[in-house]
Amino acid sequence: MGDMTSIKANLAHVLECLSEAAHASGRSPSDTQLLAVSKTFPASDVRSAFEAGQKAFGENYVQEGVSKIAELSDIRNQIEWHFIGPLQSNKSKDVAENFDWVHSIDRLKIAQRLNDQRPDHLQPLNVCIQVNISGEASKSGVEPSELSELCVAIMAMPKLRLRGLMSIPEPTDDVAQQRADHKQLCDLFKTLKKNLLLQSLSSYFDTLSMGMSSDMTAAIAEGSTIVRVGTAIFGKRTYL
Ligand SMILES: *Cc1c(COP(=O)(O)O)cnc(C)c1O
Repeated sequence: MGDMTSIKANLAHVLECLSEAAHASGRSPSDTQLLAVSKTFPASDVRSAFEAGQKAFGENYVQEGVSKIAELSDIRNQIEWHFIGPLQSNKSKDVAENFDWVHSIDRLKIAQRLNDQRPDHLQPLNVCIQVNISGEASKSGVEPSELSELCVAIMAMPKLRLRGLMSIPEPTDDVAQQRADHKQLCDLFKTLKKNLLLQSLSSYFDTLSMGMSSDMTAAIAEGSTIVRVGTAIFGKRTYL
């Protein structure tokens, strides 16, 4: 568990890196949102980050996320909760009822369930499609060739709002490789956005969720609008 001071200092440092990366690539820092990935860290750490000014948080595991959201119910309407992990069908209802965003849509069935299960009193759920850009059979995410069909299907769902694409490239220290992977997702995003079918909803299709602690600079250079940063804010994770 991190103490309040180090979370605050880490956040300030990450925001500075984000700002530098944006300026270096001729972008505005306000074009990229910081999503603080709080998985495995307690609600008290989320509260510390919130008190230091952070408003958007990402969780990977449904049960853990839902209980943290409940623990922090007093600040629920001041926080945006993003689900970013693999999603099983039998857990989709909890996500539909509790989160504001889902970054990890990887098949039609999950989108349909979230649409059916999203309560009427809540805003439509913001969703991104997770894309398998490195093309490995083992990796999750939609194949680029299947993307436009899934986009069209999701756009017809009234309780979902298709916001963009997300990817988790193969980790590498090679910055050129990081940029190439991120560029691939950005190119797919631009092509889709240009597509006539998306033109009518282009005001919503605005999100490129890419970049984590170790590759956020490369991701921002390639057009990321949301970087998902855990370790650099909360510290190293220990999995039980
Ligand atoms: C854990 C996780 C992150 C954050 O990773 P860090 O390397 O700790 O910054 C981002 N995105 C997803 C999908 C994750 O699972």
